[in-house]
Amino acid sequence: MTDNSDNEYKILGEEDINEDKYDRQKRIAGWDQNKISNATVMIIGVGATGNEVAKNLSLSGIGKLIIIDYDIIEKSNLNRCILFNMENKVENKYKVDIIKAACEKLNPEVKILTIKKALNEIDKDLYKQVDVICSCLDNVEARLEANNYAYYYQVPFIDSGIDEFFGSVQAVYSGVTDAACLQCGISGADLDLMWVKFSCTGEEIESSNGATIGKIATIITTTSIIGGIQTQQVIKFLLGIDQFKEQGKWNPHIGEPLIGKQLNYNGLINKFEVIEKLKNPDCWTCSYKDNK
Ligand SMILES: [Zn+2]
Repeated sequence: MTDNSDNEYKILGEEDINEDKYDRQKRIAGWDQNKISNATVMIIGVGATGNEVAKNLSLSGIGKLIIIDYDIIEKSNLNRCILFNMENKVENKYKVDIIKAACEKLNPEVKILTIKKALNEIDKDLYKQVDVICSCLDNVEARLEANNYAYYYQVPFIDSGIDEFFGSVQAVYSGVTDAACLQCGISGADLDLMWVKFSCTGEEIESSNGATIGKIATIITTTSIIGGIQTQQVIKFLLGIDQFKEQGKWNPHIGEPLIGKQLNYNGLINKFEVIEKLKNPDCWTCSYKDNK
């Protein structure tokens, strides 16, 4: 123990430690609030998980959110979307408009740009203007499109998926060339199946064997767990990527993101596991020779 008897201590009053709204997170070793406050994050899809991520990033003091979604709010969204509620008569309004208003209320310092377009219609230059991209989507085509552009522009990309009591989060970053991307793990057959399962047409879909496949079953508990983990990945990238680029290692106080790995949550047996995703040497996104 060091003898501090000669040192002078200033006893802080409650006002001093409580007047900074980010005080408690700034107490985390390795935290740099400026990196969070100067960052721009793209959130693609603001359904249930997108609500959580937008809320978490706003409260954390993110600088700017670019949110992309062309859906309107339906009553069936309201059991698991923290920022939508019937008091505000949100039905039949665009999700992005309600998210923007709600996040600005949570934290007026956050700038929010809304885009009511399908992902394949956005200006591709947007990918270059963001520090991290989050996909909170329920269709595989758009996820893979985001994966491809993020990989190409070397922007960290975090994907999530939920289904009943199960959820997963995976990060992709082309700065780590031997790590798998989202496209690596997807075969043609998977693509067909996932398209059917995750299609967001809003209709019941008839499969080839005559069974109908509808919307994914979800509850707020799975959504908030996965949305929390996905946001945590954003924060790891924002706080750690400069050091990683300079020194090749992640800040130990903040931890390493799930690059090339997938975190799976199984709520039935109360278990998390992290699996390594295999890089596909024939993947046209991350193994294409121009990307090496
Ligand atoms: Zn790949």
